[in-house]
Amino acid sequence: MPFPQRLLEGYRDFSHGRLRLEQDRYRELAEAGQAPEVMVIGCSDSRVSPEVIFDARPGELFVVRNVANIVPPYAPDGHAHGVSAALEFGLAALKVKHIVVLGHAHCGGVKAFAEKAEPLSPGDFIGNWMRLMTPAAQKAGPRQAMPWADYLARLEQANIANSLDNLKTFPNVEQLLARGELRIHGAYFGVATGELSIRDAATGEFVPVTSHT
Ligand SMILES: [Zn+2]
Repeated sequence: MPFPQRLLEGYRDFSHGRLRLEQDRYRELAEAGQAPEVMVIGCSDSRVSPEVIFDARPGELFVVRNVANIVPPYAPDGHAHGVSAALEFGLAALKVKHIVVLGHAHCGGVKAFAEKAEPLSPGDFIGNWMRLMTPAAQKAGPRQAMPWADYLARLEQANIANSLDNLKTFPNVEQLLARGELRIHGAYFGVATGELSIRDAATGEFVPVTSHT
């Protein structure tokens, strides 16, 4: 099966462009190892690449992505937990200083949850995963007369807050927060506008970055 042509072309552009400019940095990172200060927990959505949105260079962001940027609650049950493994590595080995939960507008995972979508396969992996959003839906409250798009945005933002709450259920996160050695943040990317908003921890409101500067 042929490798996707688009990826071959993209790699050629990378190797003639960015790689040439950053070859030394890649070599240094290979020898010294990575030491990113920021971990991003984002959505798998192809429109919301953290490295693109934050204009990050190699070695700057430690990224884990999943459907709807969900952090499950701490559960040391012996099962395989991808986000928890990434958190463990990010905190214990890399000693990241910040964790950013990056949510976004038009999130398919959040929409599937809100619409109580039918399973896409007998395994219903999305359904089971998205059930982790139940507390977020409770935080968002009833839709009432709210337009559907506004309700989805509210749910997307409540889902970020819920992931932040779940982060705090991890004992090492709680300890590092208490010692002031870690900060956790919520951010929301408007896909159509390109606008990034940061969650105000005191009010829970998402404030556009443009009004921060
Ligand atoms: Zn998404």
